[in-house]
Amino acid sequence: MTEKLYYEDLYAREFDAEVVSQLERDGKFHVILDKTLFFPSGGGQPCDLGEIDGVEVIEVLESGDEIIHVLSGELKNKNVHGVLNWERRFELMQQHLGEHVFAGMLYNLHGLHTARMRIEGDNVSIDIDTPVKENFIFEAEAAANEAVWKDIPVEILYPGMDEVKALARKLPPENAVQPVRIVKIAGVDYVPCCGVHVSSTGQVGLIKITSFENHKGGTRIYLKCGAAAYRWLSSLYVEVRKAESELVCGYEGINEKILNLKSQIKDLKALNEKTLERFLKPLAEDLISKAENKIVRHVMKNSSQDDVKHLFKLITEADGEVTALLAGENSEGVFVMFGTSRENKKIDVRPAFKKVMEAIGGKGGGSSFSSQGWGKDFQALDSALDEAEKSFR
Ligand SMILES: [Zn+2]
Repeated sequence: MTEKLYYEDLYAREFDAEVVSQLERDGKFHVILDKTLFFPSGGGQPCDLGEIDGVEVIEVLESGDEIIHVLSGELKNKNVHGVLNWERRFELMQQHLGEHVFAGMLYNLHGLHTARMRIEGDNVSIDIDTPVKENFIFEAEAAANEAVWKDIPVEILYPGMDEVKALARKLPPENAVQPVRIVKIAGVDYVPCCGVHVSSTGQVGLIKITSFENHKGGTRIYLKCGAAAYRWLSSLYVEVRKAESELVCGYEGINEKILNLKSQIKDLKALNEKTLERFLKPLAEDLISKAENKIVRHVMKNSSQDDVKHLFKLITEADGEVTALLAGENSEGVFVMFGTSRENKKIDVRPAFKKVMEAIGGKGGGSSFSSQGWGKDFQALDSALDEAEKSFR
């Protein structure tokens, strides 16, 4: 049985211990010590990491009443010295207590039960089995932060089951070790938990909801606590400052500015559409009237893909029998579009289109009535279009 030093002193960072056993497995070493400060994975809290005699601890597991340290190398001595990655442990304790405070408030204010909690990196998530109203989440967040400001001490209790049943936010699992370990925050929470937590709510610093979503008929809520919440707000600040600078406004104005820009873009697109049509419609009519054998061939200089697509649409809509062999040239290359109206089943543009793509070193594809792609070789375009035109006669 491993003596669990992490329950005796939550703030101890180093310890001496004796190696009880050491087993090699797939190049890693599974070590059991007579006592340890390394908290194993459990109850949603990831394990501690660190070093034992300078050898990296990569995982810590609980098996029965023993704690197994998975090490990257072999321990040479019987008496060893362990050192925790303290930053990680402290942040995990902040996150875990923050979760208790928030889950406690959801329960106290709205009777909501947390079915599951998990700490992953900088994120804490909790699952509630029923849908939770948005305002309930933020009421609990506000109350949780007030509990943080009060700096309430955390009490660890081992009461009888009658008291647990009467007071606990949730009951321990049937197979829980007796007596049940209770984490109590007076006026906030009373819950069975085997985890390690900071010793008072003030050390959580801050609890911030970052998002929530529907999850299996209930609600999953994401929050950040302590150092993780601070890091998140700091990166948010950097991004907001950039947006403020680009939009020339304070953060309160960002949303309105974006809505304005979106509406301007919509108007400009509509205007562009109209302008294009005004310029391209006469061209389309002219090309159709001059077409021999119902074949329109045209190359637009300094034109975008959109220009070519527009012209294509105008031509094929105006005359369903016409086959359009169009291209647009600009600094990026040559955009080629071959096709006819969707209803014109007599034509398959793909074989001719493929040959043009090969000739101009391009890539593209499509259907029998509409194929498009980009190429690079301007010089080869004209003769390639000659060949294509011949194939449709
Ligand atoms: Zn807990």
